[in-house]
Amino acid sequence: MEQHKYRVVITDCDHGSIEEEKDEFGKIGAELILAQVQEEEDLIRACKEADGLINQYALLTQKVLQGLPKCKVVSRYGVGVDSVDLKAATDLGIIVANVPDYCIDEVSNQTIAMILTLIRKTAFFNQKVKSNQWDFHLGIPIYRIHGKTLGLIGSGRIGLEVAKKISAFGVKVIAFDPYLQKAGEGIELTDFDTVLKESDFISVHCPLNESTRHLIGEKEFQKMAKKPLFINTSRGPIIDEIALIQALEEGIISGAGLDVLEKEPPDLQNPLLKMENVILSPHISFYSVESISELKRRTAENVSAVLLGKLPKSVVNREVLGKNRAFIAP
Ligand code: NAD
Repeated sequence: MEQHKYRVVITDCDHGSIEEEKDEFGKIGAELILAQVQEEEDLIRACKEADGLINQYALLTQKVLQGLPKCKVVSRYGVGVDSVDLKAATDLGIIVANVPDYCIDEVSNQTIAMILTLIRKTAFFNQKVKSNQWDFHLGIPIYRIHGKTLGLIGSGRIGLEVAKKISAFGVKVIAFDPYLQKAGEGIELTDFDTVLKESDFISVHCPLNESTRHLIGEKEFQKMAKKPLFINTSRGPIIDEIALIQALEEGIISGAGLDVLEKEPPDLQNPLLKMENVILSPHISFYSVESISELKRRTAENVSAVLLGKLPKSVVNREVLGKNRAFIAP
């Protein structure tokens, strides 16, 4: 039987194939096991000999992590690491890594696609023409995109990429981001109210947390003076959906492009599903064949880096670095 230097276990994964992971661990002579387990006892049994873990949804609780004496690293497919008890991992000296930027191109393109679809009314006309209504009057007025203002709520990796791309259309970009000292290229940082008041398009790119839940509600929609198109490719609960529906019904905003909703999938009775000036997609902004392949490869690279005594590209629990099991210096 082949002797492996390391053992890596994928706790669970719904990507269909693990070719990229196999490829990566082949390079360092590591054995790779796809466990597909969710329950605590099963996770401990499947992972107790593992030097490193890859994780998607299975909950790596304190009890599970305590049952893994050899584990030096957990790498999560994607950005969020809420499936891992970070405090327990840090206390045990386990490095937790993620891949925060595998889909910036995809999400920024989805945002631009939604703005263009709404302003040119392409989805609307597509439906009309296919139902035998060949009449451009049905969709007028249509406004020019050049010279308009896009307001970003959150100007991190994705916001910045959206700004870069939309500037090619002659759109001015302003942004509200309370944690940035300096605006990205081509972006004017301003306050929240100015973004609400002065934007023709508003696009949300901040994370969901306790301070951003319902960041945009009735009061904020009321301040949107230019009847903007409203785009959300970030997280549904950042928007108070009842207030959003009301703003659409009252014409306070002219349309919405939503990749994320408060409840996914939405109830069939959700009024957003019936509105002609609303376009929806099923939380797919992150996806392309290439982004998923990159995600899988980079998740695996995080693990092999630690097994080889190196820092992975993105460590979530940086406090662990002074006391990690792999003896990697910060
Ligand atoms: P990022 O961390 O690079 O940027 C987020 C920015 O939001 C930061 O600059 C931060 O300072 C800012 N921010 C934080 N709180 C804020 C607030 N209260 N108001 C305004 N700005 C605030 O993240 P990113 O890579 O640009 O991703 C943004 C979000 O997009 C993620 O948090 C995630 O929820 C979402 N996302 C969605 C998909 C999808 O498939 N729909 C895919 C990837 C990411």
